[in-house]
Amino acid sequence: MRTEQENIQIAQLLFPEVKESVEDIFKRYPKRNLNEEQLVLRFAPSPTGFLHIGNVYTSLVGYLLSKRSNGMFLLRIEDTDKEREVENGISAIVNGLKGFGIHFDEGMKNELESEGEYGPYIQSQRIDIYKVFARDLVSKGKAYLCFATPEELEEIREKQTSMKVRTGYYGEFAKWRNASFDEVMKNLNSGKPFVIRLYSNGNIENKINSVDLIKGGVTVSENDMDAVLLKSDGLPTYHFAHPIDDTLMGISFVTRGEEWFASQSLHMEIFKVLYFKQLQYAHISPLMKMDEGGKRKLSKRKDPEAAVSFYLENGFPIEGVKEYLLNIANSNFSDWRIQNPEKGIVEFDLKLEKFNKAGALFDITKLNDVCKEYISRLSAKQVYEYALEWAREYDSRLFEKLTNHKDYSIEILNIEREGEKIRKDIVKWSDVPYQMELFFDDMYKDMKKESLDMSLDLQKDILNEYLDTFYMGDSAPEWFGKIKEIGIKNGFCADYKEYEKSPKKYKGKIGDVAMVIRVAITGRKQTPDLYQVIQVMGENRIRERIKEYINSL
Ligand code: GLU
Repeated sequence: MRTEQENIQIAQLLFPEVKESVEDIFKRYPKRNLNEEQLVLRFAPSPTGFLHIGNVYTSLVGYLLSKRSNGMFLLRIEDTDKEREVENGISAIVNGLKGFGIHFDEGMKNELESEGEYGPYIQSQRIDIYKVFARDLVSKGKAYLCFATPEELEEIREKQTSMKVRTGYYGEFAKWRNASFDEVMKNLNSGKPFVIRLYSNGNIENKINSVDLIKGGVTVSENDMDAVLLKSDGLPTYHFAHPIDDTLMGISFVTRGEEWFASQSLHMEIFKVLYFKQLQYAHISPLMKMDEGGKRKLSKRKDPEAAVSFYLENGFPIEGVKEYLLNIANSNFSDWRIQNPEKGIVEFDLKLEKFNKAGALFDITKLNDVCKEYISRLSAKQVYEYALEWAREYDSRLFEKLTNHKDYSIEILNIEREGEKIRKDIVKWSDVPYQMELFFDDMYKDMKKESLDMSLDLQKDILNEYLDTFYMGDSAPEWFGKIKEIGIKNGFCADYKEYEKSPKKYKGKIGDVAMVIRVAITGRKQTPDLYQVIQVMGENRIRERIKEYINSL
């Protein structure tokens, strides 16, 4: 066992360069000039180069809660695991989230720059701060040097396994916990690598009650692990950096992934030994997916939809994706949306206590529905603008069409967008080319056309008669009246019930006549309202398409 004096001596030896005290550090991070209601929340990702849709979910929660409370949202980069880091990882996070309309008031802006008074906002640049706290804890005997090699740690683990006890560095197994001053000095002087561990005073038998802002009342066992605080490379572990950073940065409470819940009691002990005020947690459950009848986490490796890039590349409407995520978070969001179609999502009263506690199901089919609904509420002009933005990056042909034929494009997108029956055939911007191509002759030429199961002569007769009577100025009922006449003349039935009764008496229904015209003009059996399509395409194009089709028969 070391004496108080010996611990102080070790601490001084360890960090001769550290001049500041804990008090000095706190002076650098004064209390924020905000009231209690103004929430300061943070998103704290590692720059691994992969932005998971779950990251958008977690950061959206922090963003909305801070915005609604007129508070602050900050981005802290947790780059203490140098092996997982990639080049330009920070820009990837910032830009990916910007694509989702999530902005930060403080924190890293790119690999080099940051804004805000509570920085540095990247952990590798905060080492001097962690050292001050580590030195303080070592000098008080609340943390200690551990020289155990990986082989020794493995031996301990094997021993524990054979004894059928919990594995880990704790209690009697924590070999360096009570090492003598001489032993520590000998190893230190010989340059042996070491880590700094927490000297835990917890007892696993004791229970702690606390309130999680999402889960409600929770009971956890006290921590008794002598967890690593500073690694041998001098960088902190997440467990050590989290209490220090969130305290100094004045975070109101911690919104983070459920996977950290298991470490909560360790974090509580570290807050305690540092004499920090405990912070509350909101542990957000991960996005899950149904797979072979069971639920599993949405996986970076298995599921393309786990990557944020999937949504950007496919052009899912960002607002639609966010709305879907909010539906997952608070199931009353969809009712709110119906009642408040015009409001921005920041106005929604997102409630942590209403979050799904069991693991939120992320269902791409439902996401498609939400996006479809969202796009159906947009004007043609808005659809045009969004599609143009998407095409700028991902579809040069569409971009060219939209840019050079703006008015025509908006007219196309306006089909079935006004009035009673609103089209819901666009889920994402990458669906737009399919909707547009039949309206542009060069694209139409390359399009795969559908054909009809009807005698060619009959098709020709219908189309020739249609051309003879075709008049652009016809109203929709006049236009349909003419089709009906052509049908009756050619042996089609105008009465659906009558046709159902004795189909053999007829060549088909009037709908089949309209279908010939539809296929001749558009090459497809399914299109938005044909009358509107014709109005947008204009007389010349209609006549030409029909003639071309007749010739091809
Ligand atoms: N860097 C941690 C992670 O990537 C952050 C956890 C937290 O938000 O506290 O999961």
